[in-house]
Amino acid sequence: MTENKKTEKCPYFKKCGGCKYINLEYKEQLQIKKQNICKLLKSVCESQKIKIDEIVGSDAPLYYRNKVHSVFARVGGGKIIRGIYREDSHKVVDIKGCFLEDETADKIIEEVKRLLPSFKYKVYDEDSKTGWLRHVLVRVSHTGNTSEFMLVLVTSTVPFPGKNNFVKAIRDKFPQITTIIQNINDKRTSMVLGDRNIICFGKGYIEDELLGLKFRISPNSFYQVNPTQTKKLYSKVIELAAPKKTDVVIDAYCGTGTIGSCLAKYCGEVYGIELNPEAVKDAVFNAKQNNINNIRFIKDDATKWMVNYAANIKTPNTNNTAERKEKLSSPDVLIMDPPRSGSTPEFINAASGLNIPKIVYVSCNPETLANDLKVFIKKGYAVKSITPFDMFPWTEHCESIALIEKDKKERNKK
Ligand code: SAH
Repeated sequence: MTENKKTEKCPYFKKCGGCKYINLEYKEQLQIKKQNICKLLKSVCESQKIKIDEIVGSDAPLYYRNKVHSVFARVGGGKIIRGIYREDSHKVVDIKGCFLEDETADKIIEEVKRLLPSFKYKVYDEDSKTGWLRHVLVRVSHTGNTSEFMLVLVTSTVPFPGKNNFVKAIRDKFPQITTIIQNINDKRTSMVLGDRNIICFGKGYIEDELLGLKFRISPNSFYQVNPTQTKKLYSKVIELAAPKKTDVVIDAYCGTGTIGSCLAKYCGEVYGIELNPEAVKDAVFNAKQNNINNIRFIKDDATKWMVNYAANIKTPNTNNTAERKEKLSSPDVLIMDPPRSGSTPEFINAASGLNIPKIVYVSCNPETLANDLKVFIKKGYAVKSITPFDMFPWTEHCESIALIEKDKKERNKK
């Protein structure tokens, strides 16, 4: 598949449905994404008298995904297939490769499929709840010229007969696999990964380099899937946040702490807030290995934390819990990067109560961004700019960054 040829379509397009813009040239995709964002954010832009910025496109819109997942299934006659769930169903579409995904990762999954019969590994069947291998996940990272591959086998049960021989067989073919993990998922769930990871080979994680820092990626933690676009996205966050050396910055919904860590050298102190305990563990490790001493990570619900923080600043030293003994400072910059569902009115209310002058909102869903921006505006904030980023070429998804500010006059209002 070449980038701009409408004629060379993906053979799986009809069954998969992931690439909604398959028939469009890349430039057209960018224009449509921008139009969609303009439409969804029309009333915000009108009330704020701003125009959506030009969309930041990708220089490499093919094979960009650093995280590749296949569900395994058995069909008629015991034939093994691997692929994805058909849109809105649990039927598996047989797919051998995808032009959005890292090509080596795809080849690794094909090799796992090829090895299954010789190791007598049974593929899981969702109806009868029998069989062992449910999904295979491959994640890729890059440091300098080196690439690391993580292979995760998601299985229904723990016993893994012939484990060492399997590890040897797959690594003989793909020595770039630096870690292999068995993840146990015995639940009836559409989630790919279960909670338990057993390391079969290597360190149990891979390391990626981003804006000069190293980040550890574990099987379950969130990490941006398009590395070249992530660099542009984070650089824009840093440019908009423009923190001063003494500033207190909050990185809410921080994942493995990537944005906060990239910002840390420009500011006084950073608080990273994240719900997923594994991501927090990675974030702490990442800060340490990058010698960042002015960042702290807190495992909590972002809304709960923000509401508590706002309450404690207003009434400091009211009791002696460890949290309150700390010297709390009023934040100067808030970075927020919530999941598709957006943030909450309570979170926005608390941020506004803290009178945070500058907020950089990274959003993967323009609809929830529009809702949240309207709440910010009601609280006296002004939306200064909105920049769309194409993190997911060929799909209809679009990321954007909004800069939101509260001026001195609004901050002084009671
Ligand atoms: N900023 C990070 C992660 C963004 S994805 C990056 O660029 O990599 C959104 C993150 O929000 C995920 O890590 C998810 O686990 C976390 N999250 C989801 N709901 C949350 C909540 N209620 N409170 C705190 N974090 C939450």
